Amino acid sequence: MLETLKTTIENCKEQRIVNLFVIIDHDFIEEIWMRRAQIPSFHHSSGLLQLRFSVNPSKKWQMVCNIPRPGETTLYNWKREIVSWIKKSSSSPSQREKMIDNLNRFWVEVVEIAYSKARSYSDFNSFMMSKIINSIWGYNTLFVRLSEISQVLTNGFEFLISNLRTYTDVLARTDQALLSHGISTGVSSNSYNKAPLWLHCKCGSKAPISPSTRRKLSFKGSCMSCKKELTLDLNGPHDRDLSKVISYLSPRAIAIPLLLSRDLEISCYCSGKGGLGYLTDANMISKHLGIRWPLTLVWGSKDVYRGIAQNQALDAIHMEIPNAESRLQELRSTNDEYRTKIQDLVNKRTELANAGSSLQSILEDIFQLKEEQRRIRREIEIIEKGTNILNLSPCILDYAVNFGMVDTQKQWCRHLLENGNLASPVYFNQKNCNSEVEEDDNKRRVFI
Ligand SMILES: [Zn+2]
Repeated sequence: MLETLKTTIENCKEQRIVNLFVIIDHDFIEEIWMRRAQIPSFHHSSGLLQLRFSVNPSKKWQMVCNIPRPGETTLYNWKREIVSWIKKSSSSPSQREKMIDNLNRFWVEVVEIAYSKARSYSDFNSFMMSKIINSIWGYNTLFVRLSEISQVLTNGFEFLISNLRTYTDVLARTDQALLSHGISTGVSSNSYNKAPLWLHCKCGSKAPISPSTRRKLSFKGSCMSCKKELTLDLNGPHDRDLSKVISYLSPRAIAIPLLLSRDLEISCYCSGKGGLGYLTDANMISKHLGIRWPLTLVWGSKDVYRGIAQNQALDAIHMEIPNAESRLQELRSTNDEYRTKIQDLVNKRTELANAGSSLQSILEDIFQLKEEQRRIRREIEIIEKGTNILNLSPCILDYAVNFGMVDTQKQWCRHLLENGNLASPVYFNQKNCNSEVEEDDNKRRVFI
């Protein structure tokens, strides 16, 4: 989206634009989104094939920039799982061949090159993204590690620390006002009195720090991993200067857009849907601290396409998502009714047995109801699996295998330039990915 915007603006104005992608490499490896990629799969009971990266529990509070890249066996096993998924999911030998070919190209041109250069787990992830964006798509986005950006934000850190009272007051007030309207920004109330930065520990983790109640400009907190008490004391005459400790500091989520705007003067900030809560808080804080707020964009569109797993799901459930969801509700309540009916008959059977009466007819009734119930449960399982597949926003691998990387980018660009709505679904043209097709035609062919 940012590259499409940049090209469009540069084509009509004499302005040069730099797109900066900040890699959030100071998050904990414990976060599930760091260690799990999901691909839709009709051959898994949940409807999802999950590629996982397991981490020793003793390392769970390490920052991703300090986690080594995965071992070669892990990489080999991921590829093996994907190949097996393609073999089970493809509908014809020619389709299978094309998808294996797409996978191999993605693996050689993206995964293996990124892997060979990566030192850390976060490098591996970001090198893959930069490989796709800058090599395959030919853009020139600048990728920067958040863990290495603090130096250029030193002024901003000092500014936020000297305005800490306003920062924390506005944060608490905004969150409470939103909560009173039933909106949670995801910021926990015990963060209100925290400084807007993390203090890194020598063990590879970091500590949330709070201002000391006794000493002004003194902060302390306990390391999330080794529990060591870390202190940041800015009271001494030579301690005011943050530059000596800056490599041990990184901004918390709310401070990131504030610092990028204040110190780098960014004009546009693009985030995922998950960042909306933090952005709302940051926006309010920016108003009170006099920091100019950049144009903020969130592209929340859902991609609608028929990959191999989506095809199998639609063929199995024979209906669109809204109908599938109401059918599911219907089936679940019928299932509950059957459970009650069967339980009543089982109780009655016990009474009849105790009275020495014949059980033949009641056993036949129970058998009949159980058969019906099994049929309902099978249908529930299939529709649940189908809706999981169709509701998933899959890992980029699903796109790479089904369309190849180049076609995926063309589809997104086409949506942005021809439709431009950042909330409406992106209907993938699947007749021929390289040619333009009327969108109405597309809507008819794709279920949603
Ligand atoms: Zn530590």
